Amino acid sequence: MPFKPRTEEQKEQRKNDYKNRTEEQKQRDREYTKKQREKNKEKIKISQKNYSDSHKEERKARDIKNREHITEVHRQYIQTDLGKKLNRIGNWKANGVINDDFDTLYEVFIKCEFCEKCGVKLVEGRYGDNRKCLDHSHNTGLFRNILCMSCNRKRMEDNF
Ligand SMILES: [Zn+2]
Repeated sequence: MPFKPRTEEQKEQRKNDYKNRTEEQKQRDREYTKKQREKNKEKIKISQKNYSDSHKEERKARDIKNREHITEVHRQYIQTDLGKKLNRIGNWKANGVINDDFDTLYEVFIKCEFCEKCGVKLVEGRYGDNRKCLDHSHNTGLFRNILCMSCNRKRMEDNF
């Protein structure tokens, strides 16, 4: 018998039949699928491995793209006020600062304009001797002062 493709009507009918299966049929179908899967375990494993091997490059490219996307989202996030705040508090914690109320500490830090030791005008940012630093005791972890980088460095050198 020559191959006759299904008509649209037949396709629709099949779809409906599938949708309208009784619970009993569904259960039977599930069991059948499970049995088939068990029977073809090795075959499936091999075909999964083949698929995986043949899509290595695609996967690598997708991983890179994902990572780039995450980096970009993070980069944008840490430029927001909340992002800056949480990022900074996270750094303090990572550096061993202990405090009951980081929100208040952050407020104090942000509002401080001058080094509490030498009085220099503090600047925001990651570089330069006048950048704002949170000074804490390396023994107790407790916050002490808001200092410029050069005063902070001197304290660290003196192990104070
Ligand atoms: Zn200073």
